[in-house]
Amino acid sequence: MTRRIVLTGTPGTGKTTVSELVAERTGLDVVHLNDEIRDEKLYTERDAERDSLVADVEAIESWLGEWDGIVESHLSHLLDADEAVVLRCHPEELEARLRERGESEAKARENAESEALDVVLSEAVDRFGTEAVYEIDTTDRTPEAVADDVVAAIEGEMEPRAGAVNFIDYL
Ligand code: ADP
Repeated sequence: MTRRIVLTGTPGTGKTTVSELVAERTGLDVVHLNDEIRDEKLYTERDAERDSLVADVEAIESWLGEWDGIVESHLSHLLDADEAVVLRCHPEELEARLRERGESEAKARENAESEALDVVLSEAVDRFGTEAVYEIDTTDRTPEAVADDVVAAIEGEMEPRAGAVNFIDYL
């Protein structure tokens, strides 16, 4: 059965790391969409102020064509797919992960606030509905443990779920 799974979440929640582990375990193909947006110029403009690219969803869909497997990116839930896996992380831990990765204090803080406000989860639920969303908390967990959960979600061994975490205390 071909299935299209988008692995999304605020930057720093572990999508890149976890998607590689899941690919090893399941044999599914993984597209690291942010790299492709940059390399294949799948954007409409550069947002200089936020040091980011404005993704061109139509161009991305057409570049992907008929696809199956996993597409990972904090924007992947904007695509058509069969299910969305949303990684979550407590904003304090997220901020620490992003700072460790070399992001600026402002960028780390902006992403942590977005995570506290459930921005990506809400967008994914709006688009996919609660029956096709699998929210997985990565806080205080290893990438291997998170990958176990993602595999369970993909293989139908986990019930869809959304809204289980509450990070509002961060704000
Ligand atoms: P994303 O692709 O969502 O931006 P990454 O996979 O690049 O996230 O991970 C961001 C940072 O957090 C990396 O430095 C990575 O090593 C670390 N990381 C990823 N998953 C975990 C985890 N479960 N626990 C602790 N650190 C993690």
